[in-house]
Amino acid sequence: MASQNGSVLMRVLVTGGSGLIGKAIEQVVMRDGEKREGEQWIFISSKDADLLDLEQTRAVFEKHRPTHVIHLAAKVGGLYLQMRENLHFLRDNLRINDNVLWTAHEMGVTKVVSCLSSCIFPDKTTYPIDETMIHLGPPHESNYGYSYAKRMIDVQNRAYFAQYGHRYTAVIPTNVFGPHDNFNEAEGHVLTAIMNKTYKAKRNNTTLNVWGSGKPLRQFIYSMDIGRLMVWVLREYDEVDPIILSVGEEDEVSIRQAVEMIAEALEFKGKIEYDTSLSDGQLKKTANNAKLRRYLPDFTFTPFREAVKLTCDWFVKNYDHART
Ligand code: NAP
Ligand code: GDP
Repeated sequence: MASQNGSVLMRVLVTGGSGLIGKAIEQVVMRDGEKREGEQWIFISSKDADLLDLEQTRAVFEKHRPTHVIHLAAKVGGLYLQMRENLHFLRDNLRINDNVLWTAHEMGVTKVVSCLSSCIFPDKTTYPIDETMIHLGPPHESNYGYSYAKRMIDVQNRAYFAQYGHRYTAVIPTNVFGPHDNFNEAEGHVLTAIMNKTYKAKRNNTTLNVWGSGKPLRQFIYSMDIGRLMVWVLREYDEVDPIILSVGEEDEVSIRQAVEMIAEALEFKGKIEYDTSLSDGQLKKTANNAKLRRYLPDFTFTPFREAVKLTCDWFVKNYDHART
């Protein structure tokens, strides 16, 4: 949206602005020349407002008076943290999402783009999964708390449209990774946890321990690609129905292949062991990006190997202040 006289036409509040995807969106709009005249972008973290609290949520919306919201803030974590804390994933995310969507409604926000995830789809399903299948059966038992809370965003978006005509929508990213991710070994997602473990195994000359069999398949997407796509969704995508943001089905890789690429990127030559006593989580959650391709047939994804290398390099360079 452009302005003739330099006035702000679109004030975008990004919740979760300090996280993996928030930082990528910030880079896209603030540094990569994607910012448009008439747009103002505000990135907030839990330090600006604890969105679990309705009054703090209202106060931060009052302060910034957004016309548009990208809602990223959430309790987020890898498989093993989710298995330990299903109740907290459910409660925290239900509360944060309800506070943000209701406050957006109260303050007349025109558009909200929230984040679902491909791990919230039914466990027993046919493949590939598409946007119409979110509610067609229980999610995998490992992450039902996060999944049911996220599914409710889609229910809320439909209800806000039915009752108030709001165009609040959601994206469904597959596994995201990149700079500013959480590299914590016990709590992070697989790639960044493995990058940290590999870095330490190389430094200490020890074995790299991978959890699970390495057989599950995932579609990984680089955070900068998600950042560009979410800015497009905010500006151009007009449906209430969600849209899957993913690389193609042909780009699915096994955890084992991903581990080998990380070892290569970090030049780790030691022994790699797979602990098959630990859960594998979902074997696969192959998602179909046909809807995205209908809108953006020419969008180019960063090749996985290149994105792994970029993230490993960022981690090594920023080791002292990365989230570990
Ligand atoms: P992240 O790096 O863990 O960042 C989480 C963000 O949420 C941080 O900015 C954090 O603020 C904020 N936050 C957490 N609790 C909050 C609270 N109570 N009040 C205010 N802010 C709070 O997460 P991410 O990977 O960027 O994920 C962003 C969104 O994408 C989430 O909705 C997630 O479910 C979704 N998603 C992620 C993936 C993935 O693979 N990472 C895949 C699909 C969907 P602080 O920095 O202050 O803690
Ligand atoms: P998911 O894609 O939602 O299941 O979440 P993750 O990003 O946590 O990936 C989990 C998959 O990676 C499972 O198959 C795990 O067995 C495997 N994995 C291997 N090592 C690790 C690790 O150190 N941390 C995590 N989170 N997953 C690992």
